[in-house]
Amino acid sequence: MLVCAICQKENAVIQSRLSPDSYLRHDRETGYTIYHYCKSCHLDLLAKVWERLSQTRIDDNNPAPTAI
Ligand SMILES: [Zn+2]
Repeated sequence: MLVCAICQKENAVIQSRLSPDSYLRHDRETGYTIYHYCKSCHLDLLAKVWERLSQTRIDDNNPAPTAI
């Protein structure tokens, strides 16, 4: 069993390209890093992403909220 990238428990069943701080990071050499999470940490992560998306407004002139 894989270790969850957030809580460090050996119960990670979700593969995600979201990093533990809830961003998608793309590396030109290696592409997207795959992280492993347990179900509850992954849900928390998705909640953070949605929260940020819902707070981002077009006229803030921000980059895409899931990109760095
Ligand atoms: Zn976890």
